[in-house]
Amino acid sequence: MADQALKLTTPIEAVPGVGPKRAVLFQRLGIRAAAHLLRHLPQRYEFQEAEGAIAQLQPGMIASTRGTIEDTRPVHHGRRRFEAILGDETGTVHLVWFNSLYLINRIRPGMHLRVQGKVQRYGPLLQLVNPKWESLGDHLDAPSQEAAMRPIYPSTEDLSSETIRQVIEPLLEPLLEQLRDHYDDAYRDERGLISLARAYEVLHRPDVRLGRKEAEVALGEARRRLAYDELFFLQLGVAMKRYHLREYSVAPALKVSEQIDAHIRARFPFKLTDYQDRAVAEITRDVTTTVAMNRLLQGDVGSGKTAVALYAMLLATANRKQAALMAPTELLAEQHFAAIGEMLAGANVEIALLTGSLSAPERRALVDRCAAGEVDMVVGTHALLTEDVRFQDLALVITDEQHRFGVEQRATLRAKANEAGPGKRSAPHMLVMTATPIPRTLSLTVFGDLDVSTIQGMPAGRSPIETRAVTPAEHDKVYEYARTRIDRGDQVYVVLPAIEESKTSGLRAVNSHKKLLAETYFAGLEIAAVHGQLKRATRERIMERFRKGEIQALIATTVIEVGVDVANATMMIVEHAERFGLAQLHQLRGRIGRGKKKSLCVLVAEPTTEDAAQRLEAIVSTTDGFVIAERDLEIRGMGEIVGTRQAGLPDFRAARLPDDLPLLRVARADAQKIIAASPNLSEPGQELLKRRLLKLHGEALGLADVG
Ligand code: ADP
Ligand code: MG
Repeated sequence: MADQALKLTTPIEAVPGVGPKRAVLFQRLGIRAAAHLLRHLPQRYEFQEAEGAIAQLQPGMIASTRGTIEDTRPVHHGRRRFEAILGDETGTVHLVWFNSLYLINRIRPGMHLRVQGKVQRYGPLLQLVNPKWESLGDHLDAPSQEAAMRPIYPSTEDLSSETIRQVIEPLLEPLLEQLRDHYDDAYRDERGLISLARAYEVLHRPDVRLGRKEAEVALGEARRRLAYDELFFLQLGVAMKRYHLREYSVAPALKVSEQIDAHIRARFPFKLTDYQDRAVAEITRDVTTTVAMNRLLQGDVGSGKTAVALYAMLLATANRKQAALMAPTELLAEQHFAAIGEMLAGANVEIALLTGSLSAPERRALVDRCAAGEVDMVVGTHALLTEDVRFQDLALVITDEQHRFGVEQRATLRAKANEAGPGKRSAPHMLVMTATPIPRTLSLTVFGDLDVSTIQGMPAGRSPIETRAVTPAEHDKVYEYARTRIDRGDQVYVVLPAIEESKTSGLRAVNSHKKLLAETYFAGLEIAAVHGQLKRATRERIMERFRKGEIQALIATTVIEVGVDVANATMMIVEHAERFGLAQLHQLRGRIGRGKKKSLCVLVAEPTTEDAAQRLEAIVSTTDGFVIAERDLEIRGMGEIVGTRQAGLPDFRAARLPDDLPLLRVARADAQKIIAASPNLSEPGQELLKRRLLKLHGEALGLADVG
């Protein structure tokens, strides 16, 4: 029956070899239809050597060999096992099967066997553990086994890679026959890309007939094709989105005059640096047009981004329009709110704080005032994103620490704007700030839709921070030195990874460490603990006293990672520094070095892994956030970066950054060219491309209305 033939769209439960029970297991891996099986790519391959003589066996190889059983021995005690010795004219190898005593009746001395498995060294001997075996009967000269490359699939406990392989293998041909390529031959040839069907075929069924090297080259080409697709579709979506923003939305064109500019600058107790001036100029150029600004402002911790953001917000206020600033945590929102309040003290600007800790009536009142246009600036967390929050005339949205928000949240915020006449929507200008610079490589993907302003260096009057890594053996020296600095009038941060000591972790923690310090090195000093479990008011009171210099040492968790700004704090000690990520250490360290005095950061660490050692090496060797971001990516690799999903990074299966950066550049240029020529992908021959684009990124990028 033709209509029962396997299609790409066949639901997984109807695929041969699957059935209802297994379908659930496949669904857990994100495989809901036959086509998804193709996309379920092997994570690695096991190369199996062609069958060889026993003397050729090397530890680590997956080998097959044959010979005659010379001896067998069941072992009943301990880990029960069946052992045998296999020999040929070149040597002997040990075979061991655990929990398989029944083999005593199946494998006997004198039998000819072919075995296959991983070769391990066991003392002076080589052995195969739990090898697959088959009896060759009398035919020791049966044809020998060829080399093979076995795909190893991402699997679960209940659904093994081998089962997945057995399901996919027989379906490859019928599925690939139906697969259409969204590029034509000429397009592929120009870029040296193989066809889609060929790429999947190679990846699922590598061909080793020409040797291992050749198979690996072919796998590389197949991966490259799919990597190109992933990068290309994202860039295509981003380019299309950009076009649509320009075409179908209008942003309020703000007015700027010398007078307004002078008025705003007078609010700052300092002169903007050249880099800040440049960023201000770029932003001003954007917000004075009706094309919505879509800009990333990146710069190291303390480089002065917030000052630039405030300039932009004040531009909106000067135009009698509203501005919103969104921070990733409540603490950071509070700090922005406080800092802005301080700078605008006495000015006729209505500022409000909107976070999750408002009571329901407080919240309702604030939401009403926003909608009525009674609030000029709202600072908040993602509570700002909830549906009931409306603005009367929102001109500017700033998001801080954007790497924690993704492309999708950006789209939500943008949607806060209102209808603006037929076919046009009003859109606020958007400025995204990031304090942990995203490696350039990733910025093209996560932030591919943004223009970029960069603030380099620090405002004048900062002295560089010295960083040292020490072991806990040097505790005495470190804390005695900290004490001399405090006695000289400086303040100190001590950072720990946990709040309460726990027997299992064996980590020093805030509360116990504070007690210890109070009784020893810091006896007689005013010290305090801060962490996320304190009430906001308590935390604020402590921070305020620290700012005023009434507290000399602050013992804290990473709550001080962002925003705290105390120029007199010149030393930071981080305990268990090996537990912190590179970006996090960099953020923490940014709390010191904020004044004219020379600052010192001491990392107390016992790195037990190579990665941890590399992180420490990196943080000690540079204070440049851009260098640190690139190092972080190198050390962890993109797949490892915690929360890549939150970072708005699409979940690439084939593409690997930064290695694929050259390919990303090609894909980006290609995508931009295509959208420039055909913004809606409505040319003949582009249907498939468009359909696949919308399916992949339509929702995330808010391209729904394009379809
Ligand atoms: P970021 O947001 O990049 O971390 P901020 O804007 O919060 O940096 O600035 C960090 C500190 O430097 C703040 O205390 C701020 O008042 C100060 N600052 C910002 N710009 C300047 C400047 N041009 N000159 C002197 N100090 C500045
Ligand atoms: Mg900041």
